[in-house]
Amino acid sequence: MAEKITMNADGVLTVPDNPIIPFIEGDGIGVDIWPASKLVLDAAAKKYGKTIEWKEVLAGEKAFNETGDWLPEQTVTDFRDYLIGIKGPLTTPIGGGFRSLNVALRQILDLYVCLRPVRWFQGVPSPVKHPELVDMVIFRENTEDVYAGYELEAGTAEADKLREFLKDNYGWDIREMSGLGIKPISKFGSERLIRAAIKYALDHKRESVNLVHKGNIMKYTEGAFMKWGYELVRNEFADVAVGWNDCAGEPGSKLLIKDSIADITLQQVLTRPSEFSVIATMNLNGDYLSDALAAQVGGIGIAPGANINYVSGHGIFEATHGTAPKYAGQDKVNPGSVLLSGVLMFEHLGWNNAADDIVRAMEATILDKVVTYDFARLMEGATEVKCSEFASAIVDHL
Ligand code: NAP
Repeated sequence: MAEKITMNADGVLTVPDNPIIPFIEGDGIGVDIWPASKLVLDAAAKKYGKTIEWKEVLAGEKAFNETGDWLPEQTVTDFRDYLIGIKGPLTTPIGGGFRSLNVALRQILDLYVCLRPVRWFQGVPSPVKHPELVDMVIFRENTEDVYAGYELEAGTAEADKLREFLKDNYGWDIREMSGLGIKPISKFGSERLIRAAIKYALDHKRESVNLVHKGNIMKYTEGAFMKWGYELVRNEFADVAVGWNDCAGEPGSKLLIKDSIADITLQQVLTRPSEFSVIATMNLNGDYLSDALAAQVGGIGIAPGANINYVSGHGIFEATHGTAPKYAGQDKVNPGSVLLSGVLMFEHLGWNNAADDIVRAMEATILDKVVTYDFARLMEGATEVKCSEFASAIVDHL
């Protein structure tokens, strides 16, 4: 009998050998990449005596067609009950009452960390000379910043009212016909994100955590994020970590916490990638950084991601790309993003052997030059295979 994953009183996940894991197949290319990924995940789990009972839950177009609801309550309930889940990409409903289904799920379950590991896999075509130097893990804050959804449309009575309020109370003269957005960055939100990044860095024996911000301009939002980060290190991690200014850049045996301005960071992750290990940043910076970095190591087709609340134990692992509708149902695209999100999920569950095996098998397949169209067009002498064939080739290497 399959069992639920639970969390014990110490905040540690208890993972049975036969867990029930909810999945959303995803819209568009979801029909191609989910079955391909599942094939590999099941085969790798089986090698170590594990069996996953996949429980389909609905969201997106499939949910709308079957239930009239883009995000049925039952889906949220299942993710809540089973703690850990995985999903393919979802169409953003136009006028469906949602900014985005992904954002809705993150907000409802308060999944405050968007985790994006970025590393190069052998054989993967890359536009940079030394992709092997890229090995970073991005912790992007998921619930605040300009993504929180506090926006008013230019010319509306609400926007005019807020403009007038700002003029009367702060003397801020904002032009007529301005759209307005609010950027909330809280101490609570910053601290829990940075805490998670530091714990991850300590657990995974990483060299540093870099707080990426634009605090030179946005002093009381992005600047405060950095300030609260350094304070957190002093208050909670003084025995194991130290801020740059508190050690003149010489951390000894402790984890080094440093910071850098977002614009120069986007240059340096390209020119000096080995200086970056774990990155903790706010929502918008994190969005830009994770896609820019993904390009260095093979692009969006193989970039994995996860949304996690380390306190409640909830986590949804997901493809970072969209539904690529022009390829939907063609059995063509790269399943790597969902598959590697599954690998990330296995690591999160403590199934490291199975996770490592998948990575090795995927690398062996790519080194054989057996790849989907996105890699084939960048590699000389490659054999282009279908999405499902790529998955089968990986299973053969397991
Ligand atoms: P997209 O679906 O990510 O596709 C953009 C391009 O990325 C594709 O045309 C393709 O490039 C490449 N690509 C994406 N997935 C790939 C894969 N598995 N293998 C290889 N290449 C892949 O972005 P979009 O066209 O802007 O968005 C389409 C829909 O997805 C929208 O409704 C959007 O709201 C939604 N979306 C959902 C999520 C999510 O669920 N997490 C994220 C982003 C967007 P080439 O054309 O060069 O081959």
